[in-house]
Amino acid sequence: MTSWLTSANAPDCDFPLQNLPYGVFSRTGEQPRCGVAIGDQVLDLAALERDGLVSTGGGPVFPEPALNAFMERGPEIWAKVRARLMDLLRDGGNTILRQNADAFLIPLSDVTLHLPFKVSEYTDFYAGKQHAFNVGTMFRGPENALPPNWLHIPIGYNGRASSVVVSGTDFHRPNGQLKAPDADAPAFGPSRRLDIELEMGAVVGTGNPMGKPVTVAEADRMIFGYVLLNDWSARDIQAWEYQPLGPFQGKAFCTTISPWVVTRAALEPFRTSTPEREKPLLPYLAEPGPMLYDIALEVGLTPAGSGEETVLSRTNYSTMYYSAAQQLAHHTSSGCPMRAGDLLGSGTISGDTPDSYGSLLEMSWGGKTPITLPDGATRSFLKDGDRVTLRGHAAGDGYRIGFGDCTGTVLPALKQD
Ligand code: MN
Repeated sequence: MTSWLTSANAPDCDFPLQNLPYGVFSRTGEQPRCGVAIGDQVLDLAALERDGLVSTGGGPVFPEPALNAFMERGPEIWAKVRARLMDLLRDGGNTILRQNADAFLIPLSDVTLHLPFKVSEYTDFYAGKQHAFNVGTMFRGPENALPPNWLHIPIGYNGRASSVVVSGTDFHRPNGQLKAPDADAPAFGPSRRLDIELEMGAVVGTGNPMGKPVTVAEADRMIFGYVLLNDWSARDIQAWEYQPLGPFQGKAFCTTISPWVVTRAALEPFRTSTPEREKPLLPYLAEPGPMLYDIALEVGLTPAGSGEETVLSRTNYSTMYYSAAQQLAHHTSSGCPMRAGDLLGSGTISGDTPDSYGSLLEMSWGGKTPITLPDGATRSFLKDGDRVTLRGHAAGDGYRIGFGDCTGTVLPALKQD
């Protein structure tokens, strides 16, 4: 299946006809609005909707600076719009868009990409078994690495929606309370153990009413799509604050997501099953079918003062122990209502070797074995000026479903009065 827009047909293009991810864009002086990435262009959905070339069965949703109103229309409308866009963009389909391409297509190089949806709430899970084992081993030893609940519950904490930013948004190293293990009292200052977490984010498209839990199958249908997610973490702030209520300021300062929401429909051919259960799950967490995806992931570091990126790690989303659908079903199990724009972080995605770990904490084993970069510099944690870029794609036959870069640069901590 090919597009008349030839840039979409290159085998290494992140945005072929099979992808059609949604985002929010603007050119200088314009209002941000919804669009779809195709090849090296953005398709202006607000213009298509205005001219009656696409309809979502109600009032306009695409002039909005966020995808939430479109997501709330639900899975049947998502499928209808996807089918319509495919017909307008494929070779041999409806030619009306092709005949008026200049009115609706804008080069990606001309636009600014914005946060694609209003993040109504953000929950971060801990579903990577290798990551949980590694971190647990560092803090409690290998015998007690996994907490007793881990094989039974997709555990998580309620994070901050207010500090979720789109790729390319730089942020300041956080200040916070720090206490060295041998110090008598904490001090306040810049984090010295600033880290990344390689994660996928699931974007909830339709909600559930309060008091009405959903099944795993229903949860899967509520998910609109997926983004790459970097859950930046201040390990020293986290280490002092986290007991007994979990992470707080150590993860509240910034979370970066990729600019395009890749739909569940685009990922459908790449479904894969979660690993074999080591302990049987309670029935409400049973999966009716494959709920994970085969998505190749990598972490790149461009050190401060250098133009050269080094890939620190490569892994795959398919290594997770719990799927986003299981996490979402569990999230509603108490009766908790979820809404359009709820963001679920998967938890750090680590493979089983150091070159596949999803955090610097693991790659440097708590700072004991620093990473050596090609120019001889070393890193245990991030320095000011370091840029980290996450990338991901699902590999199809002659095409790939890409996410766009998820990148951010560490700025120096703000001075304290
Ligand atoms: Mn995390």
